[in-house]
Amino acid sequence: MLIIGPPGSGKGTQAERVSERLGVVAISTGDIFRANVKGETPLGIEAKKYMDAGDFVPDGVTNKMVRDRLSEGDVENGFLLDGYPRTTAQVDYLDGILANSDEKLDVVLQLTADDEELVSRLLGRAKETGRSDDNEAVIRHRLDLYHEQTEAVVAKYAQRGILAPINGIGAIDEVSDLLMAAIADVASAVR
Ligand code: AMP
Repeated sequence: MLIIGPPGSGKGTQAERVSERLGVVAISTGDIFRANVKGETPLGIEAKKYMDAGDFVPDGVTNKMVRDRLSEGDVENGFLLDGYPRTTAQVDYLDGILANSDEKLDVVLQLTADDEELVSRLLGRAKETGRSDDNEAVIRHRLDLYHEQTEAVVAKYAQRGILAPINGIGAIDEVSDLLMAAIADVASAVR
């Protein structure tokens, strides 16, 4: 499964909840990058300059990181990718990884929310977490990139008939329930 949504739509929070409820591992590319930045690894040092500016880390770097992560044993029972793919080139790359391991995506969960709501949420988060990419100029740039690049990713999955759009505005529990219902729909269609 994938979870896609603009910055501030609650992807990370919801991915963790779905992961707990279903016992599938949640993999957040943003979290992996942040852990590397914190640990000052070569990957982290490379990624930091893009992240601080709100830019995408280049596809080559991101794709390799995802490929390595998906080769670990804990993905055997399924996985939920959070924050990847964000570009159509990443979609193609992920298709290749999945084809190689004879896997396919069951569902792409899309969290929706309007930009002004997202900006105010993220400015709130900036106060709480001090994330270095949560200031207004960078937030707006990340939203622009979502519209310019990631909406094309969403469109691709919609064409394939595996997109489940979910309203991301609402109480955390309500959104989780909508997500679980969308997953249950897909599961019953597969059976
Ligand atoms: P997130 O926590 O998902 O908002 O990601 C934080 C930052 O990590 C993004 O603003 C990008 O700089 C970087 N990042 C995360 N996932 C990707 C990706 N799939 N492609 C490129 N950059 C990414």
